[in-house]
Amino acid sequence: MFMEIHPGLIILSLVPIPFRISALTQEQNSLLAYPIEQMATIVRDVKFRCTCCAKCCTRAFNGHVFLLDRDVRAVKMIDPDAIEPAPDPEFCDQNGTYYVSGYALRAKEDETGSCWFLENGRCRIYETRFSICRIYPYMLHREPDASGTVDWRQISGIDQHGEYDREIEDEESLTIARETKEFEHAFLSQEIAFLEYVQEYFTRHHLRHVQKVYDDRMRAFVKGVPIRVMVFYDGQFEEHHIRTG
Ligand code: SF4
Ligand code: SF4
Repeated sequence: MFMEIHPGLIILSLVPIPFRISALTQEQNSLLAYPIEQMATIVRDVKFRCTCCAKCCTRAFNGHVFLLDRDVRAVKMIDPDAIEPAPDPEFCDQNGTYYVSGYALRAKEDETGSCWFLENGRCRIYETRFSICRIYPYMLHREPDASGTVDWRQISGIDQHGEYDREIEDEESLTIARETKEFEHAFLSQEIAFLEYVQEYFTRHHLRHVQKVYDDRMRAFVKGVPIRVMVFYDGQFEEHHIRTG
């Protein structure tokens, strides 16, 4: 998912895992009950037209690009260097090892943090681009707005990119709605699977999340000290040692 970096993720690590699993499961049930036609109507009404500006392929505009497992499998075939552990790991155990729910696309170290695959303003793997790249800017999840009101969000960054003058046929709007709903469902499933696995893994290895260790190691990481990160992928953890830069 195109994710804005959000300090709330760190606070989330303090919420007991069973509560988080329960909340995500409710969100998933609510998503399943959301009528496709309603989403399709919104898609038609908004009339969004992509102007191929490539803003969404930069961290300056969109934070990091989170990948579903199926996309990680694809990117490993195309270029294994194009992925990195997603930022803002959700847990840190008493020994200083971090745990994160998946991979993100690597960004270049240019001015805007452009995607590894962006070249001269164009995606060089456009035909095989990843799930979130295909549905963006459509989304279908519940989140608070600036005033704290939680509601369904369907279009990301509306009025900040693209134009709003395209007539969209019924069939296309339904396809967009279906694909968006399917993506959100897969994303929630991956998050739930991660939390269930962390819960089981921590119990099995006598580990626990310690916020102070999280904060101390993160401060050291910012100064260049490497950290060990376990990335959830394909139902298990892959180990990485990363450092800033
Ligand atoms: S893979 Fe392509 S479409 Fe997706 S963020 Fe990167 S450049 Fe953009
Ligand atoms: S989806 Fe939006 S930000 Fe991305 S290329 Fe199209 S107009 Fe630009």
